[in-house]
Amino acid sequence: MARFPLPPGSTIGVLGGGQLGRMMAMAAGRLGLKTAVLDPDAGGPAAQVSAVEIVGAYDDETALRRLAQAADVITFEFENVPADTVAALQAAGADVAPGARALAVAQDRVEEKSFLNAAGIETVAFAPIASEQDLIQALRHMATPALLKTRREGYDGKGQAWIESHEAGPAAWKAIGAKPAILEARADFRREVSVIAARGRDGEVATYPLCENHHEGGILRRTTAPARASRKLADHAEGIAHRILDGLDYVGVLAVEMFELDDGRLLVNEIAPRVHNSGHWTLDGCQVDQFEQHVRAIAGWPLGPTAAIARTEMINLIGSDVDQWPKLAAELDARLWLYGKAEARPGRKMGHVNRLTEL
Ligand code: AMP
Repeated sequence: MARFPLPPGSTIGVLGGGQLGRMMAMAAGRLGLKTAVLDPDAGGPAAQVSAVEIVGAYDDETALRRLAQAADVITFEFENVPADTVAALQAAGADVAPGARALAVAQDRVEEKSFLNAAGIETVAFAPIASEQDLIQALRHMATPALLKTRREGYDGKGQAWIESHEAGPAAWKAIGAKPAILEARADFRREVSVIAARGRDGEVATYPLCENHHEGGILRRTTAPARASRKLADHAEGIAHRILDGLDYVGVLAVEMFELDDGRLLVNEIAPRVHNSGHWTLDGCQVDQFEQHVRAIAGWPLGPTAAIARTEMINLIGSDVDQWPKLAAELDARLWLYGKAEARPGRKMGHVNRLTEL
């Protein structure tokens, strides 16, 4: 078993080799740490900047054993890895952070909302749905429009269907592929905000300033931070993140996505047990960014300071947006991050740009 704090020269294992893993690997490199990346595809964004690349499926036991041998601690850049994967890594003697419980809660929308409500944190009203009959029944008690989402593996608005009238239940059930689901009441929100926060191995917690998020077609388009917010709202959001981190005995960075209502209430929509797209602004807008913070937390280092040093607007470069790179590279107040992806398919996150102004 690894001893913490991990000294420079140690290796962080990362499940998933996309842009989040890439920026994690770059942050690890800054602290003299190495990364080993496991991904089903060769030569992805993270592998390009990692010392060790292991190509294999997330349930490939040989690949998992190799990762466990190469790494002093193992983490995730996305949460939809099978629970057996964590068990296999732990059986091979690996230290995995965040742990199995945080992943299990975040992977299932019903578990997630049940955990939050039990911790005294508000969400929209919801009902678990296992069949078309369940849905028809639940719609008798919930106003429309309501939102049907698959319990597992939805991201960027995938696996979701709005239900506009009570008769439209069966069509929505088909539209999401007749899978175990959750029916959610519509949040009538004034804006979407998120908090990125970290918890260290000693239980220390550090939160970043509130972010305001704008989605287009279910995909995050733009984040502005620090969000304009009253001290009361910011403290409330921070308190929610703190309770979640403690409740999950969490180690690492976590994102909490919330709806702000007109009356000032915050409803948690989703938690992501990892670094998050709405935290990319911290790369240039904060003293220590979310990627370094995550590495510090899981490596047992002290957490870094999270104060903003600039007002930041983060814009995702999606699909062919990335073709603007020469123009963006010439902008003096813009910091450009490109992910090393070969093909700019529509809807694919290719990079982002942080535009900075004075606080
Ligand atoms: P999610 O996959 O849960 O992150 O949802 C993607 C986006 O859909 C959110 O960022 C919201 O813009 C919207 N959304 C999700 N759930 C609700 C809800 N219950 N009420 C209103 N809008 C929602």
